[in-house]
Amino acid sequence: MTDVRDTIFALSSGPPPSAIAVVRVSGPRARVALEHMVGRLPEPRRATLVKIRHPTGDSWIIDEGLVLWFPGPKSETGEDVVEFQVHGGRAVIAAMLSALTGFTGFRLAEPGEFTRRAFDNGRMDLTAVEGLADLIAADTDAQRRQALRQLRGSIAEQAEAWRARLIEARALLEAGIDFSDEGDVPKSLARQALAIIRPVAEAIGKGMLGRGERLRDGLQVAIAGAPNVGKSTLLNRFAKREAAIVSPYAGTTRDVIEVHLDLAGYPVTLRDTAGIRPTDDPVEQEGVRRAWQSVTMANLVLWVLDAREAAAGAIATVAEDRRLAHSEVWFLANKIDLVAGSRGAVDALFQAPRRFAISAATGEGVDELTEALSVFARGFFAGETVLVTRERHRQMLGVAAAALDGALALDRAQGSEGREELIAEQVRMATRALERLTGRVDVEDILDVIFREFCVGK
Ligand code: GDP
Repeated sequence: MTDVRDTIFALSSGPPPSAIAVVRVSGPRARVALEHMVGRLPEPRRATLVKIRHPTGDSWIIDEGLVLWFPGPKSETGEDVVEFQVHGGRAVIAAMLSALTGFTGFRLAEPGEFTRRAFDNGRMDLTAVEGLADLIAADTDAQRRQALRQLRGSIAEQAEAWRARLIEARALLEAGIDFSDEGDVPKSLARQALAIIRPVAEAIGKGMLGRGERLRDGLQVAIAGAPNVGKSTLLNRFAKREAAIVSPYAGTTRDVIEVHLDLAGYPVTLRDTAGIRPTDDPVEQEGVRRAWQSVTMANLVLWVLDAREAAAGAIATVAEDRRLAHSEVWFLANKIDLVAGSRGAVDALFQAPRRFAISAATGEGVDELTEALSVFARGFFAGETVLVTRERHRQMLGVAAAALDGALALDRAQGSEGREELIAEQVRMATRALERLTGRVDVEDILDVIFREFCVGK
């Protein structure tokens, strides 16, 4: 990369109109914008109230606002950065962007380009970039906390510490190789190396066990059951809005409808599914197929029964279905408002763990169900220390762990003596995987995928 990089700019705040808009500029010529639009360079890193002028014509005033000047490399992108805080009206923003477009070497930023430059300039490692993307996308408090931890470098620090230990181990192994011709090989060198490798391999293995992706993706809950038992009504009650079509005719929810909930700070995706029953209608068959798909992929299934038909036999039939063998299934007797006469029987059957008697229509019993869901969510997301938040991390740690296991297996099978070189090679592969995790090396192939998640202006 040469330093004739474009100077990029973008609206970094939300869509207009808004009270305040932030227009960001980054690149070698960012100061030119200041000189022409503000008339001077303000004191670095201090908010300064200025008149901002359009650089063409009679230098008319666009707006009065704050300007911040961050000379590189001590800036977010590592380049010279200017931040204009102006009033967030459409015309103000349009004038700002048109003024900036006029400067030679300036252009509108691509999505994620500011962050990309921060990465290229060594201001952020790759896991921090991912953490930032997650922080912007975070809907719930637990997601926010996890993303912030990652942005601040929890994975990167850990990977870096392992890498340092492995480099130490490799140095010992390589010293062993160098000595090997001289007759008096200090045999303990390889031993010492293996004593370093063993706990690192174990720690990486443990690090992969966390459930960070779960928090990114949310708890997946499917609402299933026969047509007309009140699945859509229940979903709507949860969503507190009309998300699914509720109708008294069977078979109306033919597609899968989902709502995203924040339960006790945890993200939960609730899916309404088509009624599951035998049918000849090809459209409905497709709905049933998708319903089963949702059900088998869910972390928790809420199986809804009509309270008037909810007998022990009906529960047993569902509970014994092979397709649910690996699922956590809760049974809900819905429409209890309609069973005044036989209420005692329903209560007797449903006062058990994982069983709930509710009325989606009146809301009775729904608070207890919500509370149970919150408890379930808390348990579901509770991991030890969560390190891994993406499949990519798991893959890289998996490669590192496998390479180290290979090193330990070599030692176990034949002893380390004379095999220092092979063991060192395994350790080198593990180190490289850790470097790919933080983006130290050779990650061009994944960069585009990661930066595509960002919006313009970030
Ligand atoms: P789905 O096919 O399982 O999604 O069922 P719907 O949610 O469309 O509901 C079918 C019918 O049952 C509609 O007329 C709802 O108003 C009604 N319904 C749903 N839940 C209850 C309930 O708790 N009590 C009563 N009385 N009616 C309900």
